Amino acid sequence: SKEKGKNGYSFFNAELSQEKSRKMTIENALKKAIQRDQFILYYQPKVVLGTRKIIGMEALLRWRHPDLGWVSPVEFIPVAEETGQIVAIGEWVLEEACRQNKQWQDAGYPPLNISVNVSVLQFKHGKFLETVERILGKTGLDTRYLELEITESIMQNIKESKKILVSLQQMGIKISIDDFGTGYSSLHVLQKLPIDTLKIDKSFVDELDIDELNPMVKAIIDLGLNLDMTLVAEGIESENQMNVLIEHGCTIGQGYLFSKPVAPEDFEGLMQIPGML
Ligand code: C2E
Ligand code: CA
Ligand code: CA
Ligand code: CA
Repeated sequence: SKEKGKNGYSFFNAELSQEKSRKMTIENALKKAIQRDQFILYYQPKVVLGTRKIIGMEALLRWRHPDLGWVSPVEFIPVAEETGQIVAIGEWVLEEACRQNKQWQDAGYPPLNISVNVSVLQFKHGKFLETVERILGKTGLDTRYLELEITESIMQNIKESKKILVSLQQMGIKISIDDFGTGYSSLHVLQKLPIDTLKIDKSFVDELDIDELNPMVKAIIDLGLNLDMTLVAEGIESENQMNVLIEHGCTIGQGYLFSKPVAPEDFEGLMQIPGML
């Protein structure tokens, strides 16, 4: 009513229910997104800091809905996780990423690693290992080119996670801990898991502009190096950030300084620039 509107109460409710209805719209639209061909993978190059040589790529999911337009993964991935739809979506992502990477290799581009984001829910889903094996078989991608990015939250159920990680490692797949330093991590546990790469979260890279000697960044890099892991910094936007990271011992990175995530045909363009590969 008008009266309630004056004290802001019903306005607040209206806003809440608007949010709720957008979430429901997204939830329903997601159910048909695969079948209607609304997903596409973008690729962001992973480069050697300093030389900018491309050594890999991360697949990032994009969704275009006819009415909603482009919906950010920041908005729809949590919905898909909540409803369990992430299992089917994640499977689509993995297959498309492997297929595309193999196709590029078959077309004569030098082989590059492909990193795929895996949600914890997907990872813990009973058939994850079977799914990965099936997709690798179907697409023909050599396992050594595949890297899975998972978050620190896998450490919450360590026994179960370790089994899966060890099996993946035995298959020749690499494991990367995404957004490292932002979540739940036990250093003791970290050491016992077959992890190849630590990805330094963008929030730490951002801080390098304020404080070049940021102790957290230095600590994460030293930890990774001491555990014999590869370090990848994400979200690098400035030369300054890049130079500080190099000084600290981080050799690989991603970020807008090099390239935003781009559509497959644009990634092909990047690979054709002399000196990029
Ligand atoms: P993430 O895995 O940490 O991916 C990095 C995000 O940072 C991407 O956002 C990327 O576009 C963005 N980014 C990269 N470099 C820069 C930079 O220099 N500056 C800034 N401001 N941003 C940069 P995006 O593509 O919107 O994805 C957001 C998140 O959504 C991802 O974070 C990931 O958690 C999730 N996500 C995306 N695709 C998938 C997927 O296929 N499966 C799952 N489970 N999650 C996904
Ligand atoms: Ca990632
Ligand atoms: Ca990340
Ligand atoms: Ca991040």
